Amino acid sequence: MKKRINKMDEKVGKVLISKEQIEKRIKELAKQISQDYEGKDLICVIILRGAFMFVTDLAKEISIPAKFDFMATSSYGDSTKSSGVVRIYKDLDMNIEGKDVLIIEDIVDTGRTINYLVKNLKTRNPKSLEVCTLLNKPANRVVNVKIKYVGFVIPPEFVIGYGLDFAEDYRHITEVRVFKED
Ligand code: 5GP
Repeated sequence: MKKRINKMDEKVGKVLISKEQIEKRIKELAKQISQDYEGKDLICVIILRGAFMFVTDLAKEISIPAKFDFMATSSYGDSTKSSGVVRIYKDLDMNIEGKDVLIIEDIVDTGRTINYLVKNLKTRNPKSLEVCTLLNKPANRVVNVKIKYVGFVIPPEFVIGYGLDFAEDYRHITEVRVFKED
């Protein structure tokens, strides 16, 4: 059965990254992460809500012991442009002091969100702190951030699907698609 998206279907643009490409890349990322964190005390910090689908698939492929905790930060609201203001709506439940922490993001755009999160989590004294993002849009970067694991580098277009939203819609689309603005 073809998935019914919703009444705004004309805003859903072309497929940028297919389901098959995502599946393949996630297996590679999970293998790399499993090798790099073998014997370590891995806590994955998932940034809600956009990374929920990514982490569900990634977690299933990670072959070493790992813990998962969640944080929620502000998104773009109903806009496709970054506001530059980062707010934490939900903080971690776990203590990350002395742990090997891997932040799992959906997308890094201007870099402001990840820069803020890295600074914030560093104050909690993790043993190590790295970033994994499904998508990287380097063309829009305003803050320099170090990203250890990148799924795909994409052009500076607003994308939806596979967890990513526009005004909370379209997250359940199974591939990454371009969003057509009015
Ligand atoms: P940054 O702070 O790097 O500018 O943006 C990070 C956040 O903005 C992401 O976690 C995501 O919520 C949102 N974002 C950035 N680019 C896109 C995009 O192309 N599509 C969607 N849906 N969200 C985006």
